[in-house]
Amino acid sequence: MTSPIPVTLFTGTMSEEGWQSQLSRAFSHSSLAVDLRPWREQAIGARYAIVWLPPAALFEAEPGIRAVFNLGAGVDALLGRGVVPDRIPIVRLIDAGMGAKIAEYVCFAIARITRGLDRFAPPPHGLRDWNASRPREESPTIGVLGLGAMGQAAAHAAARFGYTVIGWSRRPRAVDGVETFAGSAQFGAFLARANVLVNALPLTAETTNLLDRAAFARMPAGAHVINVGRGGTIVDADLIAALDSGQLASATLDVFRTEPLPQDHPFWSHAKITVTPHLAAPTPYAEAAEQIVAAMTQLEHGVDAHDLPGYVDRAAGY
Ligand code: NDP
Repeated sequence: MTSPIPVTLFTGTMSEEGWQSQLSRAFSHSSLAVDLRPWREQAIGARYAIVWLPPAALFEAEPGIRAVFNLGAGVDALLGRGVVPDRIPIVRLIDAGMGAKIAEYVCFAIARITRGLDRFAPPPHGLRDWNASRPREESPTIGVLGLGAMGQAAAHAAARFGYTVIGWSRRPRAVDGVETFAGSAQFGAFLARANVLVNALPLTAETTNLLDRAAFARMPAGAHVINVGRGGTIVDADLIAALDSGQLASATLDVFRTEPLPQDHPFWSHAKITVTPHLAAPTPYAEAAEQIVAAMTQLEHGVDAHDLPGYVDRAAGY
């Protein structure tokens, strides 16, 4: 009988108990025999690591790791730590149920803008006016930055609600119902049309500080920003300046440069900014665990990590 595959688990700010139980469940339904152990600063001869924000010590102690599974869609934090040796492939989550949640969050934020829902807050602040203005006939164009699992889910959902949707990606992409733009050459033309800009980009060297004063100035006056990608894509001070000048009308922000968002950060008290604490799409443990186990099974069957859908291209940063 072959001995079980040693797998180490480090869940960082997420629930170790939650992940361990969902992963154990998924492994028990698979063809793999696995010895899954939370990292306790002692080597177990691990063949795989399943991680969120792991320490460098884990990789120093476990030189036999063949692949790392990231417990999230974004790998900016993992790559930023620089702890995973270059030779080890990293596999991240693809959608795993998060796309639908991102779409729901984005469409709610769009409805709030188009209906002016904030006017109808409960007493004492809300309007008591049955004749309050209705949405105008011409509806805003929704511009989605990033056409991966998150961006496409948001784009398709907005299109189903009848909005004109445009999207921007690094390489040219065809997406049903979405007029697409690609690369820095088409960035300006894309921005010029986006009345509501939805950021669903990963944070990479190229996307850091992408949404700055110059970018906001290229958007239609009175445009709105919704950020579900990463906080580092927006230059905080430039966003505040664009809101204060009226160039932008509102910002709905789920992600921030520093998380938790510091208590004294000006976003908290700005009248045109809604802050939500990174809750647009929490990682669904059960679905994500199934995906990780399926990917590990493929590796065990000889599939090259580069051929897995969640393979992270370190040069591109996502
Ligand atoms: P994907 O890797 O599937 O898609 C990324 C998209 O961004 C691709 O379309 C890619 O272009 C595009 N892109 C990357 N770099 C550039 C660039 N330099 N210029 C233009 N386009 C670029 O990622 P996901 O959709 O799965 O996730 C996106 C991000 O959403 C995650 O990295 C994470 O930060 C965030 N997220 C936030 C959550 C939340 O709760 N708020 C939950 C889950 C994810 P191309 O198509 O050419 O590759």
